[in-house]
Amino acid sequence: MSLYKPEYIHCNGEPFRIFLTDEEIQQRVNKLGQEISRDFSDKRPIFIGVLNGAYIFLSDLMRYVDIPCEVDFLKLSSYGDEKVSSGQVRELKDVDANIQGRHVILVEDIVDTGLSMKFLIDKLKRQEPASITTVTLLQKTEATQYDVKPDYVGFRIPNLFVLGYGLDYAQEGRNLAQIYILDESK
Ligand code: 5GP
Repeated sequence: MSLYKPEYIHCNGEPFRIFLTDEEIQQRVNKLGQEISRDFSDKRPIFIGVLNGAYIFLSDLMRYVDIPCEVDFLKLSSYGDEKVSSGQVRELKDVDANIQGRHVILVEDIVDTGLSMKFLIDKLKRQEPASITTVTLLQKTEATQYDVKPDYVGFRIPNLFVLGYGLDYAQEGRNLAQIYILDESK
């Protein structure tokens, strides 16, 4: 069986073209894993993945990390079923681990306006971790509205809706192995 990677796809009636291939994603995620392993070699970090979007990125990233580490998750919802942010963050699940005094690595799928990441940093800080480091697979640099600067960024991308590799459109498309971008030419 092979990974699900069509050249072109319609999701919820809208056209998407391939933007980042499986190989490009794996190469970059591998590099990020190596950098994190080097930077946190003596820190036993705890990765905190933001559900649902970051689950595939986090599971690949952690397998490129070769130092002792832990994982936990929290869950947010900000987009609903739309292609633009509602401008509100809803917290659906908190972390279970006690992160006081721990080195936290917050893992996001995408930073768009930066609202979710800002919300999460402020929230996690109140639990007094030793440090908070942020990783995002994608960043829409032109869309930034909040003062957040992710420490590790996989790819800087244009301000267009993307899909696949964990990212959804109205809950569909997360199982695509590559990243697709809205095809504005259609
Ligand atoms: P922000 O709070 O930075 O505006 O948005 C972050 C969240 O919005 C992401 O974690 C993700 O769930 C969602 N999001 C932002 N841009 C996109 C996109 O292009 N595609 C998808 N599928 N989700 C997005």
